[in-house]
Amino acid sequence: MPPIRPLPPLLVNQIAAGEVIERPASVVKELLENSIDAGASRIDVEIEDGGRELIRISDDGCGIPQEELRLAVAPHATSKIACADDLDRIATMGFRGEALASIASVSRLMMLSRPRAQASAAALEAEGGDAGAVRPAGGAAGTTIAVRNLFFNTPARRKFLKTAPTEASRSAEMVEAIALAHPHIAFSLRSNARLVFDLPAEDSPRRRVLAVLGPDLEAQLLEVSIDAAAQRGLTLWGMVGLPEIARGNANHQRLYLNGRPIRDRSLQHALKEAYRGLIEPGRYPTLILFLEMDPALVDVNVHPAKAEVRFRNGAAVHGAVLSAVRNRLREADLTPVFDLGHAHINGGAVFGLAPPLAPEFGAGHHAPSPAPVRSAGEFVEYFRRLDPAQKGFVYSEVKRALSNGGFDKHEGAPGPASAGAGSLPQIQSASDVMQVHASYLVTQDSEGLLIIDQHALHERVMFEKLLERLDKANLESQRLLMPEVMQVDRREIDLLAELEPLFARIGLEAEAMGPSAIAVHAFPSFLLERGVEVQSFMRDLLSRAVQDGFAGNVEAALHEVLDMMACKAAVKAGDRLAPEELRELLLSRERIERSSNCPHGRPTTLRLTIAQLDRQFGRT
Ligand code: ADP
Ligand code: MG
Repeated sequence: MPPIRPLPPLLVNQIAAGEVIERPASVVKELLENSIDAGASRIDVEIEDGGRELIRISDDGCGIPQEELRLAVAPHATSKIACADDLDRIATMGFRGEALASIASVSRLMMLSRPRAQASAAALEAEGGDAGAVRPAGGAAGTTIAVRNLFFNTPARRKFLKTAPTEASRSAEMVEAIALAHPHIAFSLRSNARLVFDLPAEDSPRRRVLAVLGPDLEAQLLEVSIDAAAQRGLTLWGMVGLPEIARGNANHQRLYLNGRPIRDRSLQHALKEAYRGLIEPGRYPTLILFLEMDPALVDVNVHPAKAEVRFRNGAAVHGAVLSAVRNRLREADLTPVFDLGHAHINGGAVFGLAPPLAPEFGAGHHAPSPAPVRSAGEFVEYFRRLDPAQKGFVYSEVKRALSNGGFDKHEGAPGPASAGAGSLPQIQSASDVMQVHASYLVTQDSEGLLIIDQHALHERVMFEKLLERLDKANLESQRLLMPEVMQVDRREIDLLAELEPLFARIGLEAEAMGPSAIAVHAFPSFLLERGVEVQSFMRDLLSRAVQDGFAGNVEAALHEVLDMMACKAAVKAGDRLAPEELRELLLSRERIERSSNCPHGRPTTLRLTIAQLDRQFGRT
């Protein structure tokens, strides 16, 4: 590492000053980044009282030469950049040279460091920014920085902190977030002397991801990647969760750029698009994506904590992420496996690992399982909070339960690896499928028994067909012999003109007739063929248009309208299907994409594997 030198004042101004240290977790972040920049292979973090009392980070990195110790805590002194041009090619986590100085100014800081080549360590203490003299000390190669009494001299700041457990968990999240991006470095965290986690160095990002998220999630995560050659300078690797482990908030959606956790609206949008129709609105996929790109193509100097970035070519990054994730999901068999029974662990705690029938899927027949854990998501939450010994115990119990057949996942289960497309034996005749209560279809594939919600599947089939036709041309339209005149409300009439381009795409023609009526002249042939009533469809369409304001963006609105059309045209629960229709529907299931979920994201199909049946009947 080059020597530390003060930056020229001009450059100091170029670097956006910001509130870097907000809470103990921000100190943890800055110190971890320094250790990573120092090439550490092991980093140990200790906090006490949520980090208010003490934050101590030790690494085995390159160390700070004795004569540079004072400079390290001086403002805007860094060994990482030297001139303005360097800002365009930042390859280190830090570069502003202000973290140690800011931390030192609001705490009692102790630095102990020994570069490998230096015979002994040296230490420096600073209180509220006043650095003492450098003194010799004993210590191993590497650096230890202890930050005590954070914000002791800024009581307002200190008051603003949350409770110790909250602050501790923020720090834990920070260590975890950073550890995810640096699998080759071992990390440990202790809080009030209790070991929170201890992550060994791993040889692959995949192993680190599983170590952090819990090894049990493996079957519910799909690996995605694109390489630099395919995407002009952008490399991506990650693991994306099956729709069934989507969550009610975006906390489990983690994005990294060049090893830094980032937030990015445009990428979040790409991910939402990639999962469109696979998870319900308002839910967020569980996933981790690591993007790597030439530092010159991205500005990381736009946010004080570097949590937001500016891509030079945002649209290309958006497109690459969208297509990588979407294609991966399309390849995979997303059919959820049935949740049968539960294993009892640890004297009564119950886990239902495979969660195809989360309550929000509206599956009334899903018996609620006892607390504390009902779904994979909750299990992960629970698992994450355990200490390593408990994790080890739970893990071995889970493994034991799996081999005893207590869970739904087992060797024979259709994991993401066994892509379903093509595995399915062709439905030869209608006798291969049974319609149950005029609502569900029961059939089989190579894995076992399939139970299909006829409406949900048909809706998806219709939706995909419409989408495919629209790709080529506007939907076919049929002129009505007599225009259908109907009363509508004023706001709806006001929208008519704006809706015209949308109507043209779907083969609809309507005009205002006076202040409170419209006349429909032409209607999508598809809907007429499926016996959908003009008036009821128009009413729904117009009221949604008013409600969702979708006149502005035809393409976005189109999906919603196709959804409506598919839903209206699809067979309903209670419709008896002719043998030919049954057969047709099942054949389409094999042909179309995303057949595992209806366009709203609810599952169309549940699978009961042969192995599960064997277990339930006591054959294994
Ligand atoms: P920056 O990371 O932006 O350079 P900091 O204030 O975080 O600024 O650190 C100042 C300097 O102190 C770094 O440039 C680096 O040379 C040195 N330093 C800080 N922490 C460590 C560490 N753990 N190991 C080695 N050097 C360190
Ligand atoms: Mg730094």
